[in-house]
Amino acid sequence: MTSVTDLIAGNQTFVSTHFDNELTINPAGDLMVIGCVDPRVDPVKIFGLGQGEAAVIRNVGGRFTPATQATLGLLGKVGQARSVPRAPHDWNLVLLHHTDCGMVDLAAFPELLAIYFGVPPETLPAKAVSDPYESVKVDVELALQALGGDRFFVSGVVYDVATGIAKVVSGPSTARAGR
Ligand SMILES: [Zn+2]
Repeated sequence: MTSVTDLIAGNQTFVSTHFDNELTINPAGDLMVIGCVDPRVDPVKIFGLGQGEAAVIRNVGGRFTPATQATLGLLGKVGQARSVPRAPHDWNLVLLHHTDCGMVDLAAFPELLAIYFGVPPETLPAKAVSDPYESVKVDVELALQALGGDRFFVSGVVYDVATGIAKVVSGPSTARAGR
């Protein structure tokens, strides 16, 4: 088991090797990733990102839920408060789903999923929880609709936990280009 003592020891190494006090609250790569909590699918690791390059939101399945949308809304307010001007399409939003996701096991709990997604249980099949290649397309569409697509390029990527390979299966697209 990794202990808190281990964490602090790891932090001491980090401070002396990788810490960068020049980083800002705004992701250096204008990149936002919504991914799954699954420890195999850490976006920073699998995409080879640097510290501070991306803002990462992780939830069960990496899904675009009402809570995800609320989080993005709050982040937008933070950007305004910090007076970080953003041009249209300044953000690259990547929705990251993956194979062997625990979402598949949750298909047996439709009442919980309905609450999670904020939809009636009878519409859950449209969420495609058993197929990451479909679910990521569903969420790209949702994100484009919810965000208006004005400020975001939205892409859907699926990571294969068996091979380590990530593939773009949707986008990058914007509301303007896509409809
Ligand atoms: Zn997962």
